[in-house]
Amino acid sequence: MTGDGTAVVHAGLPEPVPGRPFLPNPAFGAPYHLDPVAGPQAGVDGYGRTDNATWRALETAIGSLEGAECVTFASGMAAVSAVLLSVLRPGDTVVVPADGYYKTRAFASSHLAERGVTVLEAPTVGPYPALDAVRLLLVETPANPGLDVCDIAELAARVHAGGGLVAVDNTTATPLGQRPLDLGADFSVASGTKALTGHSDILLGYVCTRDPERAAALTAWRGATGAVVGPFEAWLAHRSLGTLDLRLARQSANAAAVAEVLAAHPAVLSVRWPGRPEDPAYEVASRQMRRIPGVVTFTVADRAAAERFLEASELVFAATSFGGLHTSADRRAQWGDATPEGLIRFSCGVEDTEDLVADVRRALDAIKG
Ligand SMILES: *Cc1c(COP(=O)(O)O)cnc(C)c1O
Repeated sequence: MTGDGTAVVHAGLPEPVPGRPFLPNPAFGAPYHLDPVAGPQAGVDGYGRTDNATWRALETAIGSLEGAECVTFASGMAAVSAVLLSVLRPGDTVVVPADGYYKTRAFASSHLAERGVTVLEAPTVGPYPALDAVRLLLVETPANPGLDVCDIAELAARVHAGGGLVAVDNTTATPLGQRPLDLGADFSVASGTKALTGHSDILLGYVCTRDPERAAALTAWRGATGAVVGPFEAWLAHRSLGTLDLRLARQSANAAAVAEVLAAHPAVLSVRWPGRPEDPAYEVASRQMRRIPGVVTFTVADRAAAERFLEASELVFAATSFGGLHTSADRRAQWGDATPEGLIRFSCGVEDTEDLVADVRRALDAIKG
């Protein structure tokens, strides 16, 4: 096993060819050239909705990090919905996180419920309903935005005892933070829009599984629904993967420093970061995760206090994604996420720690003023 830095730099690269780039250029094309006589042939790309060499290189790269086969999708939601819709049938029961990414919950309660699937919600820390009659348990750990953490291995054992499947939304952790399939999950599903690619410039999703039949079913689903990532986005994602280890290291160090400042400031009512020994998620996170993400969630008195914080900071961009190079923050309640009005999901970028800490201090002091 190589270290993480080496793994991401070399992930999915072909043997180098003199005169060619290390990472092959994106393969564009809707139709590709076919042999005019032999027609479609095994191993030859035919049409862009089902075949693309740039996706395959990226899938090899992400698959090597998750330790599984990878199928890329147009976005995180395309990946999440591909798992839900391709696994669940009328009469099945699914459990989704009550405190996870709110669009996943909204998707389940509208599109799955109306197709005869029983949709249950459980908070990430539990309690969970009886899991032996569940067809699919989808957990998100750490959960976005509250950053609670659940024990994947323990939940997987309970679901598998009844013959069900487990999917873990690995967006916030990334495969360098945790490998859900090693912990017993059947699917690792993620948005690559966030820390995985980290430059806030593309939408991407993926699903990883170690079961070749499930991987083939997901690939067929993607081809049928057309939820494909563009070749240029796939290439940009692969290009960005090489710095994942460096980016996460700085983001995590920044989060550790910012979390301490937040915890000590009188304007802050509560702070969550699973890397703090005082955090309720610390114990499970330390056992289960290889590194703690650069996202810190905290609460100030109310909406006005949150807005003053966002206005007073100079380095913090207001934005509703996370995991990018630039520090950003999002007041989640403005999106209809059922969170307190003063809750801010704060995503540390890769700026210098001293600069970021000084800026956060200034902005917190402005809340009082
Ligand atoms: C952003 C996000 C998604 C959806 O990803 P998109 O790429 O925006 O479609 C799914 N799950 C989690 C945990 C997310 O943060």
